[in-house]
Amino acid sequence: MSEQLENNKSLNFIESIIEEDIKAGKNESRVHTRFPPEPNGYLHIGHAKSICLNFSMAKKYNGKCNLRFDDTNPVKEDVEYVDSIMEDIKWLGFEWDGEPLYSSDYFEQLYDWAVKMIKNAKAYIDDQTSDEIASQKGTPTVPGQESPFRSRSVDENLDLFNRMKSGEFKEGEKILRAKGDMASPNMHMRDPIMYRIIHNEHHRTGNKWCIYPMYDFTHGQSDYIEGITHSLCTLEFENHRPLYNWYLDQLTDTDYRPVQTEFARLNLSYTVMSKRKLLQLVEDKLVNGWDDPRMPTISGMRRRGYTADSIKAFADKIGVAKRENVIDVSLLEFCVREDLNKKADRLMTVLDPVKLIIVNYPEEKEEMVSVDNNPEDETRGKREMPFSREIYIERNDFMEDAPKKFFRLSIDKEVRLKGAYIIKGENLVKDADGNITEIHCTYDVDSKSGSGTEASQRKVKGTLHWVSAKHAVPVQVRQYDRLFNNEDPASQEDFKTSLNPDSLTIVENCMAEPAIVNLKSLDTVQFQRQGYFCVDIDSTSEKMIFNRTVTLKDGWSKVINKK
Ligand code: ATP
Ligand code: MG
Repeated sequence: MSEQLENNKSLNFIESIIEEDIKAGKNESRVHTRFPPEPNGYLHIGHAKSICLNFSMAKKYNGKCNLRFDDTNPVKEDVEYVDSIMEDIKWLGFEWDGEPLYSSDYFEQLYDWAVKMIKNAKAYIDDQTSDEIASQKGTPTVPGQESPFRSRSVDENLDLFNRMKSGEFKEGEKILRAKGDMASPNMHMRDPIMYRIIHNEHHRTGNKWCIYPMYDFTHGQSDYIEGITHSLCTLEFENHRPLYNWYLDQLTDTDYRPVQTEFARLNLSYTVMSKRKLLQLVEDKLVNGWDDPRMPTISGMRRRGYTADSIKAFADKIGVAKRENVIDVSLLEFCVREDLNKKADRLMTVLDPVKLIIVNYPEEKEEMVSVDNNPEDETRGKREMPFSREIYIERNDFMEDAPKKFFRLSIDKEVRLKGAYIIKGENLVKDADGNITEIHCTYDVDSKSGSGTEASQRKVKGTLHWVSAKHAVPVQVRQYDRLFNNEDPASQEDFKTSLNPDSLTIVENCMAEPAIVNLKSLDTVQFQRQGYFCVDIDSTSEKMIFNRTVTLKDGWSKVINKK
C-alpha cells in the first residue's frame, strides 16, 4: 500500500488519469494520444510542452501518438507550416504513429455527420449575419435569443446545406448551426456554428470544398475517427468539453469514446507565444523570420543552438498541472547551459580583440600547445593550438590602472595564457586618442602548461583565453538579448512597444583559433569564458557567423536581485 502511494505521488495528474483508465479497462485499456497543430504558424516552446506530453504518455504506456494537422481554415494555413511542424517534431526526437494525418482528410465524413444532424433536426441553416448572431448570444447569466431561422424544415435545411456546399452562396451569407440550447450557462452550447462558407483554396483539398467545419465540429470527431483515447489540450478548451462530448453523443453510438483532458499551457516570461503575435513580428520584419534566434519558436531555438535534449529537460522540469502560471525564461536557459556544458567542445575566440606582443618570444617561432576539448568530458580529448609572438586577448582583460582585485592582466602583473605560458605586462602602445593598440609583455620561457617544469606548475591569479594573431580566423558574432524588455509583453496594449531595441548586436572581426573552421552549420561550442555559440545556418567558409546561444552564467538573475 505504502509503495503504491509512493508511486502515485510521483505521477502527474494526467498519468494518474491514464493509469486509472487502463486499470478500469476503458477503451480496451488502450492509450492513444495525438498532437493536433493548426498549420498556421511555426511551433513554439509552448507547443513543445504539448508535444513532449503527448508523445511521452504514448511511449510510457505502450501506446501511440498521432500527428494530426488541424487544417480547417484555408485562409491562414500553408504547406510551409506543415513542413516546418514535421521538421520540428522530428528534431525534438519524436516519431508519430504512421503517416501524418489531416483533419481535411475527414471532410467527407464530417459533411455526412453534419447531414445526419440536419436529418435529426439537430442542425439548421442560419441566414443571419455574424453581427446579428453575436447580438443574440446573451451573456453567461442572460440567456441568448433563438434565431428566427431555427425552425426551418429538415428538407429546407438539407437543400440549403447542399447548395452551400456547391458554392451557390457568398461567404457569410449562410452558416450551419447546431441546435444546442440558447439558455445554456455554457456559451459554447448556444447553437454553435458547425460550418461556414470560405471561398479559398485549401492547401490539400484545393477547390473541392467551399464550406469548412469549425474547430469544435472537427476536433472530437477527428479524435473519434482515429481511435484517440486521451485527447490532451490546454485549459482554454475546458468550456468546449461539453460540446466535444455532445457532438459525439449525436453522431456515434459505440462504447469507445475519446476523453478530453485539459492542462495548463506554458507561459514564459519576456516573450509572447501566440502565433498571431509571432506572425506579426515576422510580417512587420521586426525579427528576421520565424527562425530568428530571438524567437520562442522551436526553429528559432534550434538556430540559436538550443538542443532538443535541453528543451525536453525543460518540459520535464516544469511538469504538467491544471493551474496556469508563468515560468521564468531563465529556467529554460539554465537547462540549455546544463546540457551544453556536457556536450559542447571548448574553443578560444576573442570577441573584442587587442593585440598583445610577447617581446622576448622569437619573431619567427611558432609552436603548438595542447588544450582540453571539454574538461567535463575527457573522452573528447585534446586539440593543438598554434602559439606565436603576437596574440589577441580581450580588451577588457587588460587594465592600466587596475584595482587590487583585478585578477587579469596589468603592467607588472602576471597571468597565464590558457594552455600556454605565464606572461607579464611590460609596456603599452597607444594611438593619438589614447586607445591602447598594443600591449607588450614578456613570457616565462619555462612556464609552458603541461611541460612538467616547476614554472609550469606556478600559480598566478588569472588565466586568459587568447588566439595567435597570424593564425586567427575573423568571425562574425551575433549577441542576443531578450526580445522584449517587459516580463509580460502581451499585457501591454500593443505588445510591440515592449520590444527590446538592443536584442541583437552584431560584432565583426572576432578572432577565433583556427580549429573553428572544422565546425559545421548548427554545431555548438563554448567560446571559453564567453558563453555557448552556435554556427548560424547562413555561415559560410568565407564568412563564419555565430549566434550566442546562452552566456556562461545567468547574468540576468544578478540584475534582478539588485533591484
Ligand atoms: P497559439 O495560441 O499560439 O496560436 P494554438 O493553441 O492556436 O496556439 P495549435 O496549433 O492549435 O496552436 O496548438 C496545437 C496544440 O498545442 C494544442 O493542443 C494546444 O493546446 C497546444 N499548445 C499551444 N500553445 C501551448 C502552450 N503555450 N503550452 C502548452 N500547449 C500549447
Ligand atoms: Mg488552436
